[in-house]
Amino acid sequence: MIKGRYESACFFYNDDIRSRIVNDNEIENEMHEALKNKEFKIFLQPKFDFKTEKIVGAEALIRWQHPRKGIIEPNVFIPLFEKNGFVTKIDLYVFEEICKKQKEWEDEGRKPLIISVNMSRLHLNNPAYVSTLESMTEKYDISPEIIELELTESTFSENLEHAFDVTRRLHNIGFRLAIDDFGSAYSSFNMLKDIFIDVVKIDREFFNEIASTIRGKKIVKSIVKMAKDLAIETVAEGVETKAQVEFLRKIGCDMAQGFYYAKPMPISDFVALLDQEA
Ligand code: C2E
Ligand code: MG
Ligand code: MG
Ligand code: MG
Repeated sequence: MIKGRYESACFFYNDDIRSRIVNDNEIENEMHEALKNKEFKIFLQPKFDFKTEKIVGAEALIRWQHPRKGIIEPNVFIPLFEKNGFVTKIDLYVFEEICKKQKEWEDEGRKPLIISVNMSRLHLNNPAYVSTLESMTEKYDISPEIIELELTESTFSENLEHAFDVTRRLHNIGFRLAIDDFGSAYSSFNMLKDIFIDVVKIDREFFNEIASTIRGKKIVKSIVKMAKDLAIETVAEGVETKAQVEFLRKIGCDMAQGFYYAKPMPISDFVALLDQEA
């Protein structure tokens, strides 16, 4: 029985099962070496303008290219890294790699493209966080305006004043700020009142679940409208169907990120896609 279940578990592979196969202790023993050995790979998922259907940016998403286990998805290790604090190292690694890429692309004469990087709320505990990011952009001589920092709502769940202060300083340096997974937790609407946010990313789960119902559609519609009134841009996450595209375009959502248009891909593939588009 158990053997059979194990076999079918391997056959019907998914993130959940993988997280049981890849043992937490193993991950913690290996993560430092893995970072040194450059086993963490950055993928980029393009963001498309709903009107032009052209690529207007991308999100950096990490994967672990494990020497024996193959590619491990972030849902398997990021929650653990959130617990043990290693996520802050990963985020800064991704951030630096994106700074390097931006510089490289600028030197190649490419048109500037905003790349977003996920940032854990744990960075708020680090007093040097803002200056670390700023000096990194100085080191690679790039404009902060082409980097977007994605913060989840949970960043603002405790010590709101401190979170506001940090985001205000990041904003003043020139970084773009996005609220990730918007609508998935806490009271989102209120926090938009005082915050320096450029973009709201409407949560995939929330959106998928509700988008098919009339009430759900009205909620998404009012998020888009409210954002517009506040001069905040909107990205719909997890757009998978033509029907979703049509609905979101109709209600004036600005950008789409989802499998309908493109999945996360290695950076070289992303560049090839850009070249193909141009
Ligand atoms: P996220 O930041 O909300 O990223 C979007 C996730 O949605 C990505 O999952 C992406 O592959 C997935 N996605 C995009 N479009 C679709 C779609 O049409 N259908 C479906 N089913 N999924 C779609 P991914 O790459 O597995 O990342 C999962 C989460 O891991 C991210 O969610 C983010 O919270 C976290 N993560 C990834 N990289 C980093 C990182 O460098 N730092 C931090 N702190 N977290 C990261
Ligand atoms: Mg995934
Ligand atoms: Mg994100
Ligand atoms: Mg998200």
